[in-house]
Order: sequence, then structure tokens, then C-alpha cells
Amino acid sequence: MGRYPGMRPRIVILSGSGLSAESGLPTFRDAAGLWRQHSWQELASPEGWRRNPALVLEFYNERRAKAWAAQPNSAHVAIAALETKFDVVVVTQNVDALHERAGSTNVLHVHGELAFARGTGPARRRYRIDGAPIEIGQLCDEGTQLRPDIVWFGEMTQFRDEAREHVAAADKILVVGTSLSVYPAASLVDDARADADKVLNSLEMDEVPRGFSFRPGQATSVVPRIIDEWIS
Ligand code: NAD
Repeated sequence: MGRYPGMRPRIVILSGSGLSAESGLPTFRDAAGLWRQHSWQELASPEGWRRNPALVLEFYNERRAKAWAAQPNSAHVAIAALETKFDVVVVTQNVDALHERAGSTNVLHVHGELAFARGTGPARRRYRIDGAPIEIGQLCDEGTQLRPDIVWFGEMTQFRDEAREHVAAADKILVVGTSLSVYPAASLVDDARADADKVLNSLEMDEVPRGFSFRPGQATSVVPRIIDEWIS
């Protein structure tokens, strides 16, 4: 039952790169290995883009192709199945499209999406590109170079207020596959209601946020179990 009679219970899923690890996509820490050859300033910042856009496009073209070739895993699928019984909002730091491809219909990508390109002019027109590369010289309708629709270091995360409102209204919250070290996930968990059912799954966690029960282990085995408990 939700907080008010007749309302479907509300669930917020807060996901990070660990959820997609078993789909073969490296987590933030593992990806940091890739980044050792090039610093994050070169690959994921407005300054890096101005200095060497071809290098930035190459990096994201490779990530996009890999993310598009990956398949949703059983944890993504279980999360999508929650919509049969609950009002579900997925707030994800992930830039892949595995939640949507598993069937989730309400996904807020706070750090942007690999599957979209956008113009670099004031209108910031967005284009769906799925797994396709972006090349130098590819322009938006306004005539500006296309770039990945990704939130880079130093840029504003998206859906801040909306995500906060959903977390504050949720009856149940599942945090999965995030170290909670990157904004905004870290601060969002503080907005959860004290009486909400709050669960956190990851391989390890130095400090579990107050009120959350910790369910350690691989997302593909732990998340379907949690969701079975919630659905039954
Ligand atoms: P992180 O690397 O800081 O933390 C990953 C967490 O996932 C860790 O707590 C780890 O214990 C856990 N984990 C790893 N494998 C797991 C598994 N199989 N099952 C359950 N938990 C597992 O990652 P983060 O907190 O998501 O960092 C956020 C940043 O990473 C964001 O900026 C995001 O945009 C970016 N990112 C996204 C992707 C993607 O879209 N798939 C990939 C890499 C990085």
C-alpha cells in the first residue's frame, strides 16, 4: 500500500555503474584504468573538448559502441518488472540505455546518455543516435558541431529537483551499484523518508547511509531477490 489509500506504492531506484558491470561495461573505478592514458580533463570536460574534440569523440564513440552491444542483465530486467505493481522512477548515473532496453519507462539520466548527441549552440538540440558514432564536421540543425549528450566534469547534473522530489516521496528505495561517491547520488539518499523501506546493494560499502539495509553481492543475484520480496 502507498502512503494514501488507493495509491500505488512509489519506488525509486538509484543506480550506478555497478548495475551494468555484469553486462560487461566497466564501472567508474575500472573505467578510470582506461583514463590513465588520458586524464579526465582531456576526455570529459569542456576544456578537453575545446582542446581536442576528435580525441573526446573517439573515446565516447568507443564507449557508445560497447554500451550498445551490451545486453541488459537480470537486475535491469527485474527492475523493469516492478512497473507491474508499483509507480517506479529510475534515477540513474549510468549513461548506457540498459534500463530502457530492459523495459523501464521512467528513467532520469542525471549524467546524460550515450545514445544521444547534442548541438553545442544555445538551443542544445538533441538527436537520438543509439550506438552510432559522432564525427568531426557532423552538425546540428543550427550548424554547430555535435557532441555527446553527457554531463562532463564541471557541468550541471540533470533533473536535480525532480530526482529529489521523487526520492522524498518514495515508499521504497533501492540503491544499486553505486559507491555514492559522485554527486548527486550521495546527497539524494539523505532526502529519503525515515519510514521508507530502504535497501542498498553493492559489492562493498564503507559507510551504509542511515536507515538503509545493506544486501551485499552481485546485482544479478541480489536485486531479483529483493524485487521478488517486494512484488510478492
Ligand atoms: P563507482 O565505480 O564509484 O562504484 C561502483 C559501485 O558498484 C561500487 O560500490 C561497487 O561495489 C559496486 N559494484 C560493482 N560491481 C557490482 C555488481 N556486479 N553488482 C553490484 N554492485 C557492484 O561507480 P558510480 O558510483 O556509478 O560512479 C558514478 C559515475 O560513473 C557516474 O558519473 C557515471 O556516469 C559513471 N559511469 C557510468 C557507466 C555506465 O553508464 N554503465 C559506466 C562507468 C562509469
